[in-house]
Amino acid sequence: MVWKWLACLGLMLTMGWAYPVQAPSFPMEGGLLAGRTVIIDPGHGGFDPGARGIRATEDRINLEVALALKAWFQRAGARVRLSWSNPHDIPRHKKFRVSQRVEWINRTHGDVLIDIHCNSGYRAYRGPQTFYWGGAGSYHLAHDIQEELQYWTHTRRGVTRINQYVLRYAKMPAVNVELGFISNPRDEALLMTTQYQRDIAWYIFVGTERWFLKGRWPEKDLQTPPPTHLLVRD
Ligand SMILES: [Zn+2]
Repeated sequence: MVWKWLACLGLMLTMGWAYPVQAPSFPMEGGLLAGRTVIIDPGHGGFDPGARGIRATEDRINLEVALALKAWFQRAGARVRLSWSNPHDIPRHKKFRVSQRVEWINRTHGDVLIDIHCNSGYRAYRGPQTFYWGGAGSYHLAHDIQEELQYWTHTRRGVTRINQYVLRYAKMPAVNVELGFISNPRDEALLMTTQYQRDIAWYIFVGTERWFLKGRWPEKDLQTPPPTHLLVRD
């Protein structure tokens, strides 16, 4: 068996596989998403803080992650627009209604919509989850993002279809990423840290970036699941 191993090593050396590869500091540098417009909608705001934990309110976490996500997309060359980017964008006495959000979203003619929320439920529930309403583009985007989030958190919440106004009426592929359960003390503590906010933004970005690359296929090819070799992780 030794000769087989040596032959294999020889082949690897010939092919250059045995040499260390210099990993770039940011794999998407170079405008991979140039020409793309990404719409990010941090949920709630104004007098509607969204779900509450013991210490945190949802709208502030949604906004922090949206801003981190914006930064990643911009580094990849995409144009990014946020439905709101500063707590003062929405007066405290006012609610940013979903119908207004959708009107604004559809005026942007973006390539994709990422809605950001925090989940709330039974105290034991935890982990991020991605939702979509319909369409092959949204379906695949939700799966590409959720796969990254599962890989990172080792949680097993799946993609779920949901009848949510913004997702239903957005005229572009759209998903809602629930960052974690603000009702779970462990998730809430994580959601409040800058590290978790930055990391989850990274994995949402990576999932979306993968989807964008696959989206170069004709729409008819998106009707079937993507080739499995693209989903293999080591
Ligand atoms: Zn929410």
